[in-house]
Amino acid sequence: MKNFDYVIIGGGSAGCVLANRLSASPDVSVCLIEAGSKNDSVLIRTPGAFGYFMFSRKYNWAYQAKSDPNICNGRRMFLPRGKGLGGSSAINGMVYIRGFKSDYDEWAALGNTGWSYDEVLPYFKRSENNVRGASEYHGSDGPLHVSNAEMHYPISQAFLNAAKQVDLPLCADFNGANPEGVGSYQFTIRDGNRCGVAAAFLEPALERSNLTVMTDAHVTRIEMEGKRASGVRFEVHGVAHIVTASREVILSAGAYGSPQLLMLSGIGDPAELKRHGIVCQHALPGVGQNLQDHVDSCVLTASRDHGGTSLNPTGIVRMCKAIWQYAFHQRGLLRASATEVGAYLRTAPERKIPDVQYHVIPLIYDDSGRDIGMLAKTGYSLHVYVTRPKSRGSVSLASRDPYAEPVVDQRFLEHPDDIKSLVNGIRLARKWLSAPVFSAYRKKELVPGVEHRSDEEILQACRNHLGNGFHPVGTCKMGTDDMAVVGPDLKVHGIANLRIVDASVMPTLISGNTNAPTIMIAEKAAAMILEKL
Ligand SMILES: Cc1cc2nc3c(=O)[nH]c(=O)nc-3n(C[C@H](O)[C@H](O)[C@H](O)COP(=O)(O)OP(=O)(O)OC[C@H]3O[C@@H](n4cnc5c(N)ncnc54)[C@H](O)[C@@H]3O)c2cc1C
Repeated sequence: MKNFDYVIIGGGSAGCVLANRLSASPDVSVCLIEAGSKNDSVLIRTPGAFGYFMFSRKYNWAYQAKSDPNICNGRRMFLPRGKGLGGSSAINGMVYIRGFKSDYDEWAALGNTGWSYDEVLPYFKRSENNVRGASEYHGSDGPLHVSNAEMHYPISQAFLNAAKQVDLPLCADFNGANPEGVGSYQFTIRDGNRCGVAAAFLEPALERSNLTVMTDAHVTRIEMEGKRASGVRFEVHGVAHIVTASREVILSAGAYGSPQLLMLSGIGDPAELKRHGIVCQHALPGVGQNLQDHVDSCVLTASRDHGGTSLNPTGIVRMCKAIWQYAFHQRGLLRASATEVGAYLRTAPERKIPDVQYHVIPLIYDDSGRDIGMLAKTGYSLHVYVTRPKSRGSVSLASRDPYAEPVVDQRFLEHPDDIKSLVNGIRLARKWLSAPVFSAYRKKELVPGVEHRSDEEILQACRNHLGNGFHPVGTCKMGTDDMAVVGPDLKVHGIANLRIVDASVMPTLISGNTNAPTIMIAEKAAAMILEKL
């Protein structure tokens, strides 16, 4: 049994940032425990390998949501989650987005002192090294490299031109003063290599003698002494170990993993714990509740060849060339994300902020890119995400077995406002796709299909092709109400020496992709912890 000052559970977006920032203080010892492997594969550093991870079990926990008969005809929705150092940042789409000022101001208004936009902006900037240089909104000397879209795909440029043709607003910086309109994204990519948190934050810290990193180490529970977290129990190849934490255990296992581990450790809703024969150490009914994710649907268009990478003979030849170019010259399609262009738009003038986000994908992407039949067709996809969904789901235990997949009940589209934004978002997508520039490419709208025109018909098509943004949050929410799990200092209510630092603490989902906000949360948490040393 070894003792450390801080024991961090989970080497993902939050865990790697914490490991770096805390171990920068030579006075403290830090241990990072990760269930997956070191992730030192060429696939991880290749931006264009994104699609591969949807089929991997080594780098992806590859969960599936609870079946809902109204969604995808009852098919369980795919829920990828990164496994191994870097966590989900090792397999994500690399889009660098923060959301809107109002997202964070709402966190503060909910009682989370210190989390307004003006208060979190310095932590976004601290982590960031943006190729656009330092400014009011951007940092240029942080470890996380943020680069511009390289615009490898002609269809991406067509979407930008189309926006002008149908009078959609343009946006020069989705993370600047006014993130509204159509524009090209920025990415966590450095010189054609994925810049996940392991590369950005962990690797530079590995030499430090006060940092210990354990991989292939599956945490099975947090050790408790009454109402104090004293250490962490984990298994390596079936052999159990315990490490103790003299200052804090920090839980960073993500929005599915963190509530699961709390419940396995006897912290949660007493009724839920009892159902699985787990002794209740501390009642916290909010554990696993308040799950939010960006529900999405799409307009899928079959087209003439536009330079994309479909799984058909032309696309495969193009991919072989791309592999050659990347392997020998670090050039070509594989050095970039395929999702180069997107948008934030309002589906109705009365919306105060954009209620939908779009991702342009230069292939036919359905069922998280796992529908091979669709991938084999030539075409392009316009995915529509509800920025601030109001439906709420939950994460609960399937059993007390720490290796069992948790039960993820998304309860998507339960709130009528989510339906409204999604259906109107499809209508707006069709307006964008009707621009003259697409007549050079377009063959046929496959989904929803031109015959689906009424709200009910569009909604039914959306239900059949529903997806999630891979942005689960909120399951250990920060707040001061009875359902809150942590306070604004991210300490678990009623338990000493236990903090949660990851996407699970977001009280409400921000209006966009969640990697940068999770990194910001970890930056702020590290500052709070070090301040008190
Ligand atoms: C496929 C995909 C695409 C995405 N695309 C984007 C994008 O383009 N842009 C963006 O901003 N966001 C994107 N996201 C979301 C973003 O990556 C996540 O929100 C963010 O990484 C979450 O960070 P986290 O620290 O909360 O969890 P994670 O990064 O998931 O880290 C949790 C870590 O804990 C480990 N762990 C879990 N349970 C245990 C256990 N019992 N014992 C030990 N270790 C454990 C996991 O293996 C993992 O390494 C994407 C996510 C996915 C999955």
